Amino acid sequence: MTDFLSLATAGVRGLQPYQPGKPIDELEREYGVSGALKLASNENPLGPSPLALEAARSALPGVWLYPDGNGFRLKEKIAARCGVAAEGITLGNGSSDLLDFAVRVFVASGREVLFSEHSFAIYPILTQAAGGQGIATPAREWGCDLAALRAAVTSNTALIFIANPNNPTGTWLDGDSLEQFVRTLPDHVMVVIDEAYFEYASSPAVGANGYPDTVEWVARYPNLIVTRTFSKCYGLAGLRVGYSISHPRVAELMNRVRPPFNVNSVALVAAEAALDDDAHRLRSVAMNAAGLQQLMAGFQRLGLAYIPSAGNFICVDIGCEAAPVYEALLRQGVIVRPVANYGMPHHLRITVGTSENNDIIINLLKKVLDR
Ligand SMILES: *Cc1c(COP(=O)(O)O)cnc(C)c1O
Repeated sequence: MTDFLSLATAGVRGLQPYQPGKPIDELEREYGVSGALKLASNENPLGPSPLALEAARSALPGVWLYPDGNGFRLKEKIAARCGVAAEGITLGNGSSDLLDFAVRVFVASGREVLFSEHSFAIYPILTQAAGGQGIATPAREWGCDLAALRAAVTSNTALIFIANPNNPTGTWLDGDSLEQFVRTLPDHVMVVIDEAYFEYASSPAVGANGYPDTVEWVARYPNLIVTRTFSKCYGLAGLRVGYSISHPRVAELMNRVRPPFNVNSVALVAAEAALDDDAHRLRSVAMNAAGLQQLMAGFQRLGLAYIPSAGNFICVDIGCEAAPVYEALLRQGVIVRPVANYGMPHHLRITVGTSENNDIIINLLKKVLDR
């Protein structure tokens, strides 16, 4: 039998696959429980807008046709909403697609990609797969330390990833420091600001003071790529749609590596309709802000520390090895996210659920931790 590992590229040979949150079906099969609750992948507990569902249903008879490979209507709609030119938008099969395109366009083998410690696991995976050299800079209070990131920039730096807010820590950067960082980068460095949780973080109710709308910056800094997604606040994670906003010349390069029909026809119309439903988005954002308060109050009652979050999830400090607590919660039918692989063995990341979901997880933590 061929040793396929030896045929794989050096980068792929050393890769560990991304570990997603455990799916509900798998938990129910493995543990023989039913009615499991998943608070592990930062999905919107309200689900998608009914308008998006209706649009998706009405698109089903047309699925024998290839989708609009250009995503013309969705791009027009995003452009109008964000106040940018449609030429600067690139669509992805989820925003993970855009992160991949950025690496494939800008990271040649051997060049460096910077990101903060405790940041999204996809960054080092994509970097290594492309033969690039991922460098994690030290975090400060669990968040991205821009000074450390800046100090790591060399003539060999190709790209920098910054998640704002960051997953899994929920920490965020304010507009002044972030813009100052982007402004002083050398011209040969591209920077991706990953805003998967933009809709949540930009809501005043979440209290992420100074959280910026970086889309406005794209006109000033042509080396900036901003990515956003329909997977989180818009509740369309299963349909896979995301987008980036960049200088049109950068978008043109991103589109060179984009597979022709990467966003399907059902997803395109569902995303358009989701953008139209402001009421649903506001409901989702308000429910999340209230849920964060509820979880923080619950952790305080249990004497557990946590990292303040601008996303729809929060990391709680169990105070010791969190893996057994994760397992105990699984046995009770609740899936949260262990983050030991992010260098956070004492934390668990919990997605904000409905008020009822949040009560369940707080009560279970109380029981499992015997508080
Ligand atoms: C969820 C998430 C994404 C994107 O997910 P997609 O479903 O591919 O859009 C990107 N970055 C971060 C930090 C995330 O948490």
